[in-house]
Amino acid sequence: MLFKLGRSVSSKKLLLLSNFSSIVTSKMSNGKFPGVSLVDVVSVLEKFAPKELSESWDNTGLLVEPYSPRPVTKILLTNDLTEDVALEADGKECEMIISYHPPIFAPLKSVVQKSWKERVLSLLLEKRISLYSPHTSWDCVKGGVNDWLASPFLVAESAPIITRTDPSVGAGRILKLQTGISLSEAISKVKEVTGLQYVRFAIGRNKLLSDEVRTVALCAGSGSSVLKGVVADLYLTGEMLHHDVLDASQKGISVILTNHSDSERGFLRIFSSDLQNRLDKKVQVLVSNCDKDPLVTV
Ligand SMILES: [Zn+2]
Repeated sequence: MLFKLGRSVSSKKLLLLSNFSSIVTSKMSNGKFPGVSLVDVVSVLEKFAPKELSESWDNTGLLVEPYSPRPVTKILLTNDLTEDVALEADGKECEMIISYHPPIFAPLKSVVQKSWKERVLSLLLEKRISLYSPHTSWDCVKGGVNDWLASPFLVAESAPIITRTDPSVGAGRILKLQTGISLSEAISKVKEVTGLQYVRFAIGRNKLLSDEVRTVALCAGSGSSVLKGVVADLYLTGEMLHHDVLDASQKGISVILTNHSDSERGFLRIFSSDLQNRLDKKVQVLVSNCDKDPLVTV
């Protein structure tokens, strides 16, 4: 079943809303936010995107909980939790980090100083900073990462590519556009929503940049497995292997690649003000300044 999205909201409008809501806060007279318990933050996060929406192979939810709990007054949102982002959270006195990708995935046998991941966890434990990772639950949920990636397109219908029991949630999105746009316009829209100056592009066989796009299949992150076999004019994802791009383009499907996390990170800007509102503005929600895709086009 397809659900109607109505008209899309431009990323500029969303940014304005985000700026406005960060001004309207519930700061106490000492400039601090009153804060809520960690349990309450987790409950609000899982009301937005229940853990059951995560893929079975994923590792989502509360991943680090300090031994001595403390109220959460400041949260740092990041796509990837690097050592620099962990230090940023500590420097900004955040009690919690929400890292979209789970930093703990493969089992750990120690928490010592030998690897950057262990140093991150060691720092979090020492500084009593809790860590939550939503990952694929945010991909699947309505209003999550994939819907953000779809937001620059004027869509008539949008539906998950791989649906769950509830057909309005699931992996990837297939969009039917209200009116056809050119491939060039589609590229501009992707640059607009991601804030990127450059994207990678493979034009479909026998296609021109002026040719019309009426259907877009997208998947934030690494979309090959979700997009495989989907019939559309355009694929949009973060990264794909050479042979998958070749296969799509030879079938006449054009492909836009943004780099993996650049197809995900922009959602944090939108979600920061949304989460602050969901927490009754009792918590300050920041987006990391250090977090970035390791790859750039030079
Ligand atoms: Zn990803």
